[in-house]
Amino acid sequence: MRRKIVAGNWKMNNNQSESNILINSIIEKNSENSSCNIYVSPSFPFLKDAVLTCSKSNIKVLSQNVSHLTNGALTGDVSCTMLKSIGINSVIIGHSERRTIFGESNDVLLKKIKICLENNLEVFFCIGEEIEARNNNKHFSVIENQLNETVFILEKIDPKNLVIAYEPVWAIGTGLTASPEQAQEMHKFIRQKFTEKFSESISSNLSIIYGGSVKPSSAKNIFNQSDVDGGLIGGASLNANDFSDIINSI
Ligand code: PEP
Repeated sequence: MRRKIVAGNWKMNNNQSESNILINSIIEKNSENSSCNIYVSPSFPFLKDAVLTCSKSNIKVLSQNVSHLTNGALTGDVSCTMLKSIGINSVIIGHSERRTIFGESNDVLLKKIKICLENNLEVFFCIGEEIEARNNNKHFSVIENQLNETVFILEKIDPKNLVIAYEPVWAIGTGLTASPEQAQEMHKFIRQKFTEKFSESISSNLSIIYGGSVKPSSAKNIFNQSDVDGGLIGGASLNANDFSDIINSI
């Protein structure tokens, strides 16, 4: 059976004390929750604190990024082994902000995916189309291409270590959520592509989560779709009440 997941993508928000307060509040409000896997993702300097704070809770800690190489002359980068050494087991790769603002290509993203999987880090891999592609009915081919140039190059995958986050770029931070039907249609398409590339048993166990302006008011209808296994939540994950309402919608 595939996992239900609600993960917060905090982006570059929250200083040390804000980060601590938010995590403690999320733990307090969700300590009884057993219906899904919950993740928070503070910025690099606060990950170790977060791991310690969450260690006796049901909340997991997710890194927002990782280097594509093991070590060396890469000023400003953070490696898989560094993350592992402080107890991080999961990483977001390929967020549209990394692709567009930092120019991360599918080539680099594939290297990141490979190095994470080699180091036993669970990968949250983000894919999504821009608005022009959707308007021109090219959204399915964009998504297929993103998969063909990255995870579909891998010989095998393990759904225990990989989560796909479908995040239409036009919905991220814009307040424009994909409709439940649009999300379901794309998630079903993605799952079908995983069946064709790998197998039915892999695709049926793969969690595919939706991201893009999910709010407490829209979460339930999106999460109710049969191929939507949860959400990657940006803005609304910075508020413990909103994030908890979204968690409770699953
Ligand atoms: C995101 O950044 O992954 C995201 C989904 O953001 P938001 O929920 O703010 O659209």
